[in-house]
Parts: sequence; C-alpha cells; structure tokens
Amino acid sequence: MEFPLFKTKIKGLERKFNLTDPKEQREYFELKAGKEIEKLRKYLKGNTFIAYLLGKKNSGKGTYSKMFAELVSPERVGHFSIGDMVRTVDLELRDVKRKKELSSFLEKNYRGRFSKEEIFRILEKRNTKSLLPTELILALVKREIERRERKAFFIDGFPRDLDQISFSLFFRDLIGHRDDPDIFVLIDVPENVIDQRIKWRRVCPICQTSRNLKLLPTSKVGYDEEKKEFYLICENNKARMVKKEGDELGIKPIRERLKVDEKLMELAFSLYGIPKILLRNSVPVTEAKNFVDDYEITPEYVLEWNKKSKKVHPVRNLKNKRDSNIKLSKKQFGVSDGVKVKEKPWIFLDDKGVPSFSLLPQPVVISMIKQMVEVLNL
Ligand SMILES: [Zn+2]
Repeated sequence: MEFPLFKTKIKGLERKFNLTDPKEQREYFELKAGKEIEKLRKYLKGNTFIAYLLGKKNSGKGTYSKMFAELVSPERVGHFSIGDMVRTVDLELRDVKRKKELSSFLEKNYRGRFSKEEIFRILEKRNTKSLLPTELILALVKREIERRERKAFFIDGFPRDLDQISFSLFFRDLIGHRDDPDIFVLIDVPENVIDQRIKWRRVCPICQTSRNLKLLPTSKVGYDEEKKEFYLICENNKARMVKKEGDELGIKPIRERLKVDEKLMELAFSLYGIPKILLRNSVPVTEAKNFVDDYEITPEYVLEWNKKSKKVHPVRNLKNKRDSNIKLSKKQFGVSDGVKVKEKPWIFLDDKGVPSFSLLPQPVVISMIKQMVEVLNL
C-alpha cells in the first residue's frame, strides 16, 4: 500500500503563510484551492456525499474532515463518529422517554440476530472495549443519517472491522433514500507520528482541547520548577493542560488496534468500484522541496527554561469544570515567564524507515479538497 505524494507547492507563489493565524489560513486556502472550494460549494447546494474515513487510531480523521467542513460549508457538511453516537445512546438509555423512542425506532429498523430485549441488554452492559453487533450499528447509523437529511457527511469509525467493510459498500443502497456518491477516504500516517502525538498530548481539564507539547504547543507555556516539567496553558481558559494516564506509553497499548486498522485500510485500498481519496501525512525529506512549501511542514518545538526570569503570570491549576470559578491567585498558581520556545525541523523515520517530514493538517486538507473535486467529477 503506497500512497502517492500530493503536490501543494505552486510554482511562482513565494508568499509564506502562518497557518496558525485564521486570517492567513483563509488566504492560504483561497490561493491554493479557491477554485476547487467554489466548485464544492456549488455542488453542495443541491447534492450530498457520504465519505467513510479510514485510518489508524489518532491519524487525524476528525481534524481533517472538520477542517474540510468548516472551510467548504459548515451548514452542508457534517461529521459524526460512531464513538460519539454510541455515547449518545448511553444517555438515551437513562431517560425513559428517549429510551422508548429508541426502542420503537429499533423495532422498525433493526434486522438481525438479537431480540429487542437482548439488544438493550447488550447496550446497557456494554463496556468501552466490547463492540456492538454490526446490524445494530447499521440501524443506528441509519437513524443518524435520517436526522441530518440533505447534508453531506464524513463518518468516522464505520467500517470498524473487516466484516463491516462489505456493509459499507452497500450501505447507500441499504438505507434506500440516497443516490449520492459514497467515497472512501483513506488516511496514511506513519506510526512514529501517531506515537509522538500520543506521548506529548496534553488536554485541558475544562474544555477538553487537545494540544501537543512537542508538536502543537499553545501560545503560553509554563515551567513547573518543582516537577521539573513544561506544561501548556489553555488558550480558552488559562487552565493548566494535563497529561492523560498512559499517554507516555505512546502507541504501545494500541498496537493490536493499529494492526486491525491497517488491515482494514489495505482491504479498502484494494477494492474496486468505490472512489477513493488517498491522504498522505508524510513526505520523504529528499522529496519535500518538490512537493510542499516549508511552512506546510510540522516543526518540532524545543522548550528551554530560563531560571533568571522573574516575571510571573497567573495560571489556573484546575482539575475539573467545577473549579473554573475559583479566582486566580498568584500565590497558588504563579508561573514564571522564562520559557523559550524554539522551532526546528522535525525529522522521523516513516513505516518503511525513510527519513520524513509530517505535514500540517492544512496541506492534507488541500489534497482532500482537490481529490474530492475529481472524485465528484466537478
Ligand atoms: Zn481549556
């Protein structure tokens, strides 16, 4: 399975963009894919599509599809993940009225091996690791689609297993009322990138925003002299972002999952008859110059601590939402301003051992937009 490199470099376009700046990001997309974005907007006025996102865990499925939607048409492009969908079902089960609605929906729409009583037992006893029966997932996805009529969308998390692939091929026909195109979006990200994304991930305990100490820091970074570690400060609410337990192990705990994801991608890659969009996150260092601009490459951030700095600014050291009402106090949460953030190129070995760069989400989304235009014959 070899994903082609995608060229986002445009000859003669010398301007450098700061892609973390929303205004410059808009201009970047306008200059590099303005024509294609217009075509997609026009198409979406009267049409939709269903795109199945396939990629390893933490490959950025949500990031890419949400950026696409945001850019092209937030009103007409949706995104939903099976994980979120199942969590919503958990809430419905605890509400008598909503549970009744779910029950009558399943009565009309579920076809499969289990009785209604068994289905509810499966749903209620479910733990995070157990998978729901495919026929049940199908019925729930159908419900989700009916709720969002006349919207194009990306589905994240279905197909999740090999037997679900063939269901996805006929899903459009199964749910009956749509003739719109369906597409596989395959995302290829080297495991070293996934590993570093997990290892350095930091999450805001208040708003759940996720950033990365090494690859995507916030604009303010603090240093904890006691623990001798750097930390990120959430841009939304100044809370100190935290590490989730087990993240320091990187991909180790999800190795098996990654293997299944890879098999799933290989199978999808080999199928005929359904259009595919191939998104590639990495570029060999030796090829980068010909395909992408420097500012499209993910840098590594190196943090340095300057002891002499005395300036202190407050940070909220919060554990949960309830704490967010606590007043700031320098004594409690004071942090010195002495952290220096330096940028340098990040080079790692891809899955084949080739020294590579990782692309920022924006150029990958450019590739997605242009391939989508082609797939839809616009
Ligand atoms: Zn936050």
